[in-house]
Amino acid sequence: MISVKKLYKSFGDTEVLKDINFDVKRGEVVSFIGPSGSGKSTLLRCLIDLEEINSGKVTADSSPLFQDDINITREKRREVLSQMGIVFQSFNLFPHMTVLENITMPLITVDGWKREEAKREAVRLLEVVGLSDKADSYPRELSGGQKQRVAIARALAKNPKILLFDEPTSALDPEMVKEVLNVISSLKDLDITMLIVSHEMEFIKQVSDRVFFMEEGRILASGSPNSLFKDAESERVTQFLNCLN
Ligand code: ADP
Ligand code: MG
Repeated sequence: MISVKKLYKSFGDTEVLKDINFDVKRGEVVSFIGPSGSGKSTLLRCLIDLEEINSGKVTADSSPLFQDDINITREKRREVLSQMGIVFQSFNLFPHMTVLENITMPLITVDGWKREEAKREAVRLLEVVGLSDKADSYPRELSGGQKQRVAIARALAKNPKILLFDEPTSALDPEMVKEVLNVISSLKDLDITMLIVSHEMEFIKQVSDRVFFMEEGRILASGSPNSLFKDAESERVTQFLNCLN
């Protein structure tokens, strides 16, 4: 579903992603862990075209998103990107719109859906994230956990094949982390391919098929949660995990 080959990314003279290579299968859930500044957010942002890639090759659902020396048209890229969604740490909801409008507005204005059609989709998605009763509330009337669940519902619109999560619970009070992680876990049943950046190690162990450990712009280690967490061959991974405890 996603293939990344020899991806390099710099900001000015600083190389922040160096020779990143991995493949993610359809329906697979992979997580990225590693110290702050190791390039996790930049990697997700490169995959969804929020950052320009310097070199390498990225393919999503068998269509190229970026490839050295090949000019991929805007339209073609947009087509691929329309199958991808991202959820950020900060929920990025529109404060002056209701929960329902937060979900329908992009569908109507960006994707040209009819109002009724968009509304039906929003109602369905609010059910998926357990917020049917909040359709007419404003973001300020919601808890952090509820806001993030709205953001997830919005990312689910248009049935994306691929969802990216960048520290989806880092801005939440501890008592709200669980409800958001439960919603993300439940998406596994929808057969969505997920790439997750998180520091919630218990969650990562439960939800991930594979885990990648990043440091200084490289993937240093990868494997099943068991192999990576239980008998990490890399001393650095063990060190990092110990720091979190
Ligand atoms: P992580 O998400 O793992 O904490 P980031 O991807 O945010 O790491 O950052 C990786 C490196 O890239 C850091 O050194 C960071 O300072 C740098 N960086 C990130 N975004 C920018 C930017 N827009 N301009 C310049 N440097 C950036
Ligand atoms: Mg980050």
